[in-house]
Amino acid sequence: MEEKILIVEDEEKLARFVELELVHEGYRVDKAMDGRDGLAMAEEGDYDLLLLDVMLPGMSGMELLRRLRRAKQTPVIMVTARDAVMDKVTGLDMGADDYITKPFEIEELLARIRAALRKRSAATAGEGPLVSGRLSLDPDRHIVRYGGEEIALTSREFDLLQALMENRSIVLRREQLLSKVWGYDYMGETNVVDVYIRYLRAKIDEKFGVKFIHTVRGVGYVFRDAEA
Ligand code: CA
Repeated sequence: MEEKILIVEDEEKLARFVELELVHEGYRVDKAMDGRDGLAMAEEGDYDLLLLDVMLPGMSGMELLRRLRRAKQTPVIMVTARDAVMDKVTGLDMGADDYITKPFEIEELLARIRAALRKRSAATAGEGPLVSGRLSLDPDRHIVRYGGEEIALTSREFDLLQALMENRSIVLRREQLLSKVWGYDYMGETNVVDVYIRYLRAKIDEKFGVKFIHTVRGVGYVFRDAEA
């Protein structure tokens, strides 16, 4: 099965270069040159992944992502300018799955794309739901619920919760979570795990007044069944 990738990038030469490389790797590729076209294509098309530039005419990559996330959880890799720390943080806050900084090596981009797609397909080939009390995570259908209520998670948040639930009562170090969830060497930025733990806690523990995700100081995190 060919996976479909949408490149939203206004630098024509860069977009063309990346397109050629992705096609060479066996992906189907569409391109959009500005934010509005990109959003329309992402909403209508059935893409497996978006490669999304931040600085775009028409609509910024951030705004595109914000609007897309109202409707779709398509994995998104943000392409940010060098040293644009705010972009990275904002992009992750808004539900991007990963980011890569220009200029990038094509091999690094390909690795990140493979990781994002692998995580998605691994999450859809599981062995039935993981359940803890009222919390359930269904890898096949990519749905998390608390009680009857569906919880909207980004694919990265979902993968992190799945890794924690699969290792219930086992303390996982940040590095272990990085390799399980991000799937490659994340250049030592282990605090990205803390950022995503915060997202999960806000959406589950804090929202529902329960405690599943525990910090083990100096070590990492552990998922425990919440006390009734
Ligand atoms: Ca640009």
